[in-house]
Amino acid sequence: MKFDHKIYTETLGIDERICEFSDEIISGLADRFAQADRMAEMGQLKVLSAFKRAKISDSHFTGTTGYGYDDIGRDALEAVYADIFKAEDALVRPQIVSGTHAINLALSGNLRPGDELLSPAGALYDTMDQIIGIRDCPGSLKEYGISYRQVDLLQDNGFDFDGIKKALNEKTKLVTIQRSRGYSSRPSFTIDKIEELIRYIRSIKPDVTIMVDNCYGEFVEEREPIEAGADMVVGSLIKNPGGSLAPCGGYIAGTKRCVENAAYRLTSPGLGKETGASLSSMKSFFQGLFMAPVVVASALKGAVFAASCYEKLGFKTFPASTDKRTDIIQAVELKTAEALLKFCEGIQEASPVDSFVTPVADDMPGYESKVVMAAGAFVQGASIELSADGPMREPYNVYFQGGITWPHVKAGIMNTLQALKDGGILEI
Ligand SMILES: *Cc1c(COP(=O)(O)O)cnc(C)c1O
Repeated sequence: MKFDHKIYTETLGIDERICEFSDEIISGLADRFAQADRMAEMGQLKVLSAFKRAKISDSHFTGTTGYGYDDIGRDALEAVYADIFKAEDALVRPQIVSGTHAINLALSGNLRPGDELLSPAGALYDTMDQIIGIRDCPGSLKEYGISYRQVDLLQDNGFDFDGIKKALNEKTKLVTIQRSRGYSSRPSFTIDKIEELIRYIRSIKPDVTIMVDNCYGEFVEEREPIEAGADMVVGSLIKNPGGSLAPCGGYIAGTKRCVENAAYRLTSPGLGKETGASLSSMKSFFQGLFMAPVVVASALKGAVFAASCYEKLGFKTFPASTDKRTDIIQAVELKTAEALLKFCEGIQEASPVDSFVTPVADDMPGYESKVVMAAGAFVQGASIELSADGPMREPYNVYFQGGITWPHVKAGIMNTLQALKDGGILEI
């Protein structure tokens, strides 16, 4: 037995055969890995330049308490985010509790009664339903007299340009585009695709505000959505840009006006960006952002590895192993509830935290179906760390993402193969 196989066998109980299978798969991925490393390099330099321009120093890591007036660390962090996303301004706060919260701030801060919100590219992430009021919820946009319109994708997942033209009307104030697939099997939209869509929308309604839900997309491509014409991007700090070190938080980057509107909603009219203590987490925000490009590259390698393994074993994967990537999500159609649970068990068992627990499907606030989640993360629920989840509904897709280091993602995926093999679901 090869030495490195012995390590896997002894630490995780992985069969020799699965080690050999993984070696075979990895030997075919040299180009993809080189591409991920190249993206990390470019992202790293982008971040480094932003730090240099903002003259980041130790004094920015101190943090504030109370009202958080004159918080130089917070202001500098926001300047760095604005620089990286090519935005006029940014709001980057530990008080933003999640990506959903950031999106809600961006929408509710920038829409007024009588306005209409448009999704030109199909259904949105599950938690948007209650924000919009598709499923009733106190405080939804619907309750404030803001209507919603959606243009579904065509059969081939292309944009329905005619439908979009018809849907844009005098009330349409904000258009929201979701870069990553969420819990759906439509492809994630690359920056080029987003640019094509934005150009078209602007050709019909030049002044409409365009927002991109950038969750899981940061640092995966060379450009970010504002460079493709968006007014505002929104995301979570326990995903890509937090680099696994940010303990919580979300961001909104965009035009001065969009960011200001969101800030008045986050704190209060009159207070806006001027308040909000950064407490003691500033260093993790900066350091996490600095590490994010390399962390994202590790996650990308893992995603491509997972896609290649599962394709070879006859499963459908989204995206396919050879597809261009625009986010770190890898979906695998596992077909049965049992396989989905086993996959999640495999990830959980290979996690540094809570490796001894068994994930079970349960109701989650904001989600319609029961969801099973595997995450043995340092930051609770952080999906830039090795994690897998999926709604308990057909076709039982698992959405796998994250991994701070490539060796860890590799071990995690190998362990899912072992879990499925032990469960009698696949032969290898
Ligand atoms: C993760 C995610 C969100 C927000 O989810 P939170 O768990 O609230 O951070 C929104 N949109 C997409 C596409 C996502 O992947």
